[in-house]
Amino acid sequence: MWRELRGHIRQREQLAQAVRRGRLAHAYLFIGPEGIGKARFAECLAQSLLCRQRAAGTIDACGVCTGCIQVQAATHPDLIRVRLPDGKRELPIELIIGAQERRGREGLCHELSLRPMSADRRIAIVEDAHTMNTASANALLKTLEEPPPGSVLILLTPSSDAILPTIRSRCQPLMFAPLNDGEIAALIRDLGWADDDEVIRTTAALATGSLATARQLLQPELRQLRLRLFSLLDRADMDAWTASDAVLNSIDEMGGEPANQRLNASWAVRFCVESLRSRLRELSEQTTEHSANEDALQLDLLAAQLERCLDAEVHLQRSMPIPLCIEGMFDGLALIRRGTVV
Ligand SMILES: [Zn+2]
Repeated sequence: MWRELRGHIRQREQLAQAVRRGRLAHAYLFIGPEGIGKARFAECLAQSLLCRQRAAGTIDACGVCTGCIQVQAATHPDLIRVRLPDGKRELPIELIIGAQERRGREGLCHELSLRPMSADRRIAIVEDAHTMNTASANALLKTLEEPPPGSVLILLTPSSDAILPTIRSRCQPLMFAPLNDGEIAALIRDLGWADDDEVIRTTAALATGSLATARQLLQPELRQLRLRLFSLLDRADMDAWTASDAVLNSIDEMGGEPANQRLNASWAVRFCVESLRSRLRELSEQTTEHSANEDALQLDLLAAQLERCLDAEVHLQRSMPIPLCIEGMFDGLALIRRGTVV
């Protein structure tokens, strides 16, 4: 499993060292942006610790014993996993300490305290730990203060600020960085999400180190929209109406929740930024003494257009209606291009 994991070599070595020295902590806080493989990493670690044939002092799971197979099939009785259910904003307290009528007799804290069923320890992974409310966090705190022997609790969060200091101070933090473009590209290929080199390269470059973002970007509608915007923005006489229409239609076609539509709108803006930036790069590379004046004007126009796109991004974040943001942006770009506004 570790072999399939990309990046995060230092973190892996750090844990291997802790195992070699017999100093594995009872609780870890994995901190890093969404979609970079923290959950996958936690799963690999759990598999190693639950493997029945792991060589002493290593974190290399055998991959074939019952323990390994059960972890991979998500049926290991000693591995407890909780995460934010779809459509919820808060991790339900029931998952941590059980439903009201069975409080303390079920849920993660209870299960972690039971004797292991097939391995020699129990492991719990809490994804989206930053969405625990104070009651859930306090319940978990009791377990952290008196961890069951041999147990390992792994909390995942995009930022440590979102975790109560009392919880934070009882966990060993492990920072995870975004993946690099090469790692994202390799993962896209490994997972069979795309096979075209150009698609993989451009997706990886835009994904900001997150596989989750790469996956969004690989939606065929977004890919088409990106190419369409590139060709529209390439034309000196870009028609604002056509461009807005292309974006708003694709957002409609992709559908989904309002938050998702806003995300897609924001991708459209970022594609415009990408196109303008690449034009800016070309221009600054080709400037000669002869063309300096004309190019300086073009650079100013491009900078003004980029600024207009960044405004649109801010408007989208501030929940302004999507058509207003998109139409406003393209109108602005067209005006700047015509030299009406700089
Ligand atoms: Zn094994």
